[in-house]
Amino acid sequence: MQDRISAAQSETLQKLIDQATSIVAFTGAGISTESGIPDFRSPNGIWSKMQPIQYDEFVSSEKARLEDWRRRFVMNEEFATAQANEGHKALVRLSKAGKLVCTITQNIDGLHQKSGLPEKDVIEIHGNSTYGACLDCSTPLSLEDAKQTITESQKSPRCNQCGGLVKAAVISFGQAMPEKKMADALEHVSGCDLLIVLGSSLVVFPAARLPEIAKQNGARLVIINREPTHLDAVADLCINGEIGAIMETVR
Ligand code: NAD
Ligand code: ZN
Repeated sequence: MQDRISAAQSETLQKLIDQATSIVAFTGAGISTESGIPDFRSPNGIWSKMQPIQYDEFVSSEKARLEDWRRRFVMNEEFATAQANEGHKALVRLSKAGKLVCTITQNIDGLHQKSGLPEKDVIEIHGNSTYGACLDCSTPLSLEDAKQTITESQKSPRCNQCGGLVKAAVISFGQAMPEKKMADALEHVSGCDLLIVLGSSLVVFPAARLPEIAKQNGARLVIINREPTHLDAVADLCINGEIGAIMETVR
């Protein structure tokens, strides 16, 4: 990793943005580390401390469900106090300038919306952790109600309509992707002329296919990430550095 980005890299980034008319941002956990939220795969990331709970485990084990809820409540407290950083703010500037048409995020922390991006321009392809939903009939359940059930009964919450399992409305590993959101994301990456990846290891599929699809459809591709990714070689510009320092210069 390089400590400082070169002036030439900044200039090239700005030039690509100036030439674009329809930009899509594709963000991962790396855009939120400067807000104090750890990512998964960095050396001190979440996975250095605990393994993720797979969808199958959630469905088959009450112990896994209770642990999933416990982590969710801890994480949400962290999200509630986190503030948007320079990376998020740069995207707001591009949105206000009419250049950024949409932000596809793998994050569940809500920081893009908190930073001021219009809700309609953010596609959360891995869902949102601010509420729960029944896995069978999608009836929503507030996190407060989920917490109350667990506190009172020591059991994971069930749907009050059909009795199904309720889970935070995020996509777990091994769970199907939300069809409508994926279709919207595909439409946007296929139609944009510049796709900027910000802070994603690009190893979680199918989400990580999206930047590739943009490139195959003729868009230019920029990757800004601390560590190398498998798409660096096909990117028009790849900057291995800190997102905040790179994006704060972008206009
Ligand atoms: P990841 O952890 O696999 O990769 C993050 C990447 O960002 C790493 O390659 C790392 O080098 C880079 N990075 C970290 N901080 C950076 C910085 N300041 N500047 C530049 N690069 C930086 O994350 P992913 O690709 O998003 O995939 C993991 C999954 O994790 C996603 O599905 C997402 O839902 C989930 N997740 C979300 C959050 C969140 O909502 N904030 C946090 C952790 C994990
Ligand atoms: Zn239900």
